[in-house]
Amino acid sequence: MVAEILDGKQIASSIENEIIEETKELIEKYGVTPGLAVILVGSDPGSQVYVNIKKKTSSRLSFHFEDYLFPDTAKEEEIIELIQRLNKDDKIHGILVQLPLPKHLDENRILSAISPEKDVDGLHPLNMGKLLLKQEGFIPNTPAGILEMLKRSNIEVRGKDVVIVNRSKIVGRPLMALLINNDATVTVCHTKTKDIKLHMSRADILVAAVGIPNFVTADMVKEGAIVIDVGINRVEGKLCGDVDFENVRKKASYITPVPGGVGPLTAIMLMRNVLLAAKLSLKK
Ligand code: NAP
Repeated sequence: MVAEILDGKQIASSIENEIIEETKELIEKYGVTPGLAVILVGSDPGSQVYVNIKKKTSSRLSFHFEDYLFPDTAKEEEIIELIQRLNKDDKIHGILVQLPLPKHLDENRILSAISPEKDVDGLHPLNMGKLLLKQEGFIPNTPAGILEMLKRSNIEVRGKDVVIVNRSKIVGRPLMALLINNDATVTVCHTKTKDIKLHMSRADILVAAVGIPNFVTADMVKEGAIVIDVGINRVEGKLCGDVDFENVRKKASYITPVPGGVGPLTAIMLMRNVLLAAKLSLKK
């Protein structure tokens, strides 16, 4: 078997076209332009690249975009003050704090300052709780992107055994809830899991978000499994995921590449959340 490649770029591009159409309609009918504010603290080069991608994507979609840059030495209070101002700003529908934050800042306190209606990253405790309770709210972008990719590729998650190797708040925890809400059976693995290989080799759908190149090898993958590679690693200047792509591809039924898999979906789901926030603002 040679796995079919799930082309994240192509799927993201069709979602982008849908957003462009819906944005046009929102502007023409209601005079509302979706607005995103991004807050970047510090000078991490990776984070700067991500903020620039968000700026460019916003421009392609005709969104209003504002970015706020703070030095590494920024104080928690000044960031929270800005968030409180943006919470009241009608031009801004989504607020995103680029992670990771410098160590001296309390990430939970800062994320909790964002109004849940503008929490387009879905990391506010209220939105996370709603996801767990299967209530409507903003869903974190990477889990939402993974589910969207599976749905648009006609891959059913209902009844499937899904194994996620990650328990972070941006990937594993929300993905676990989202998949349970969609009737999958979910196992979450991490560094303290006993015999992780046993779990992984039983998965119908295996999601790796570990941050270690070649963490997933062919012997850990069930014949015909669907393999979702979330990891982003740089090896000798080249991007790669967590999966030994060439060998796992020979065993899996579907596989996501890195780059061009989950990444583009994550980026576009943020924009879909901004559009959703703008639409919901009409109902207030
Ligand atoms: P993180 O917070 O460091 O989480 C890594 C997870 O992997 C943790 O749950 C950790 O377990 C687990 N882990 C690490 N080494 C392991 C091992 N040897 N065995 C079993 N589990 C292990 O990172 P993150 O922010 O969630 O991101 C994870 C990866 O996904 C990174 O490569 C990141 O760049 C990438 N990412 C990609 C996208 C995208 O759009 N493609 C989006 C987000 C993240 P413990 O909890 O026990 O430490």
